[in-house]
Amino acid sequence: MREILLLKLGEIVLKGLNRSIFEQRLVKNLQYRLRPLGAGHIYCLQSTIYVEPHDETTDMCAVAEAARRVFGVVSVCRAAECEKDMAVILETATEFLGETLRDARTFKVDAKRADKSFPLKSPQIAIEIGGALHDRFPHLKVDVEHPEVCVKVEVRDRMAYVHANPALGAGGMPVGVNGNAALLLSGGIDSPVAGYMIAKRGVALHGIHFFSYPYTSERARQKVIELARLLERYTGRVDISMVPFTKIQEEIRAHCREDFFTLIMRRFMMRIAERVALEKNCKALITGESLGQVASQTMEALGVTAAMCTLPVLRPVIGMDKEEIVRIARNIDTFETSIQPYEDCCTVFTPKHPKTKPRLYDIEAEEAKLPVDALVEEAIAGIELVEGAFHA
Ligand code: ATP
Ligand code: MG
Repeated sequence: MREILLLKLGEIVLKGLNRSIFEQRLVKNLQYRLRPLGAGHIYCLQSTIYVEPHDETTDMCAVAEAARRVFGVVSVCRAAECEKDMAVILETATEFLGETLRDARTFKVDAKRADKSFPLKSPQIAIEIGGALHDRFPHLKVDVEHPEVCVKVEVRDRMAYVHANPALGAGGMPVGVNGNAALLLSGGIDSPVAGYMIAKRGVALHGIHFFSYPYTSERARQKVIELARLLERYTGRVDISMVPFTKIQEEIRAHCREDFFTLIMRRFMMRIAERVALEKNCKALITGESLGQVASQTMEALGVTAAMCTLPVLRPVIGMDKEEIVRIARNIDTFETSIQPYEDCCTVFTPKHPKTKPRLYDIEAEEAKLPVDALVEEAIAGIELVEGAFHA
């Protein structure tokens, strides 16, 4: 008996002619992520993705855990593979699911016959296997509505598969099918969640981080890299452009009105981010801005920062409460890293009374005191690329 994974796809099954593009991308993403963990052959047949172990040493539990986080996968079934023979199917179910069935009080069996040449129809398979399992585990009661264990028997083209109680996958669309976007990644709670949400729509991420050494420490930079690594379990590879931001911040502080500091700084971020995005073939910027959360996230403030770029700015957490964002951050395990107390460049020179209803005209007049283009060029020339953990 060999254990393999059967991955069920959601939305992508509905995509008509695009379906095969979606499936191919998902298979590629899975190969990239699961092979290092010992997965062998990975392929798609009849809208189900098969993940085989490379050999008997493969830890299928670890492979299944990783597969759950790949966007496009709706559920993960750890299945035992066996011959298409009713007696063998029964033995396999008894052996593979014995422990689960012994611990349960109620069960039912569902069967699906994809191979129409198999002599028994789906309901007959379910009745026979269900009856035989009941004989072997007589303490079980049948509950067709809410069984504790739902045994599935799938008779497919080559083999039969037995599994129970699939694990929930991350859902969404395979990363890459909707192009690339640049994520402005701070060390905070919101921006990793924003990246996760857009990647879930099938978008590959390129990270951009602004740091202000020596005002921000090496540890703060490491924290951002760590956040990108955590995100990568869902999003695949995330490279980060590290942008030196100290000089720009010092120049703003020296020459511009204090209450405009944050907004002018954020406009520089958007200018530079757009340049990086275009170079990396990204079609949008992503931020973790949430309406009204801080002074720089009022509608007026968002207006003057977004006025800086022509690419769309995606703000997936714009309408969410902090608690909702935190819930997602906990689910994707970025929360604990995000709350480590290292300074972000945004917190270095925060004004006491930031402007909440800025007018573009006033901001532009303040900015005119700075050699904007030269500062942008210098920052771009100083970018260091930190490559993601995964390599094709
Ligand atoms: P977060 O939790 O993501 O840090 P925040 O509530 O602290 O968000 P701000 O610091 O105002 O909000 O930043 C708003 C958004 O601007 C962030 O979500 C992020 O997308 C971007 N941003 C802020 N600081 C940086 C930085 N140092 N590098 C890259 N992007 C940044
Ligand atoms: Mg922040």
